[in-house]
Amino acid sequence: MTVSLRPTYLEVDLPQLKKNIEAIRAHVAPAKVMPMVKANAYGHGIDGVAPYLEPVVDYFGVALLEEGIHLRELGITKPILVAGGTLPSQVPHFAVYDLTLTGSSVELLDAAEEVSRLTGKRIKTHLKFDTGMERVGIHEYEAGEFIEYSLRLKHIHVEGIYTHLANSEMPDLVHARLQLERFQEVLSIYERRSEPHPPLRHMANSGAILQFPESYFDMVRPGIMLYGVYPREAARTIEVAPALTWKSRVAYSKRTQPGRPVSYGSLWQSEVETRIVTIPCGYADGYFRRMTNRAQVIINGRKYPQVGRICMDQFMVNVGNDEATVGDEVVLLGEANGERITAEDLAAWMGTNEYEVLTDISARVPRVFLKE
Ligand SMILES: *Cc1c(COP(=O)(O)O)cnc(C)c1O
Repeated sequence: MTVSLRPTYLEVDLPQLKKNIEAIRAHVAPAKVMPMVKANAYGHGIDGVAPYLEPVVDYFGVALLEEGIHLRELGITKPILVAGGTLPSQVPHFAVYDLTLTGSSVELLDAAEEVSRLTGKRIKTHLKFDTGMERVGIHEYEAGEFIEYSLRLKHIHVEGIYTHLANSEMPDLVHARLQLERFQEVLSIYERRSEPHPPLRHMANSGAILQFPESYFDMVRPGIMLYGVYPREAARTIEVAPALTWKSRVAYSKRTQPGRPVSYGSLWQSEVETRIVTIPCGYADGYFRRMTNRAQVIINGRKYPQVGRICMDQFMVNVGNDEATVGDEVVLLGEANGERITAEDLAAWMGTNEYEVLTDISARVPRVFLKE
């Protein structure tokens, strides 16, 4: 299979992901858990992650309609919320695939009502309010009218109501508390109008799950922490651990003379004779070019510096006077022999955050799923 073809791959520890969900569940109970598996399960590989986790989740969350359809094609039967921006013209697919729509505008509700009426399939809808993000959603100060409108629609099924936090991982929760107050205003309007069917209320992302329990309501939506990575500044109140190891092998090894610069642009050269090895992975795999001369890798249990411009499909590492031969194991992210390279390290070398590190590991890198 693919691994024997390509020595660069991601090893995904599925039981660790399950442990992370269980730790989150124990902390937020009785709230339900909706893991966010958008962007290929934050790079971990949706095809392996979603079926394995399905028994321990209440709901799945994705960003795109296509991601929701893909989950159904994998055989997922649990409910799936499509949280990202959807166009009214995409709504018919929600009925076909039994996906939950983010009802963030009158136009979307109208489209869902029409499709539900015509097909006889009640499209599940979660009303989306904007309490301080200025992205999709109805402002809390226009909630009354929108809720009234939704209640007049007889064919859709308003199952939930939610909002999204902009600053939940910050040590200072002033903005998160303001968003909570605004969400509570929305909920009280809803509750006054519709006693018999209280919808599923949800708000909390990873930062909020870690340090803002008032935001749990009926369900939480963990993303990055499900994958064992903490939002940078959040309090670490729940123990989770990473599940990803990005591996490769030495593809070439040779001694290089001083004064012979390595790679495009001749950005690095050694002052002494040294051993340079080539790793068959590059920026087209999500090993960012911006990390040139900054990254480190673990080879045979020791850390070494990446040198010279990172290429599209290969990069070079200086192992000095150590031995390293073709086929030796290389770890780009993860642990080996007590040495460790974290998503935080890669993020610092890239000048980005851990989310982007994970989601940019490209589809070209095979995912290998460990089940025990
Ligand atoms: C991605 C996403 C989340 C998860 O955010 P994390 O910070 O990764 O926990 C939660 N809710 C919505 C609507 C999202 O799009």
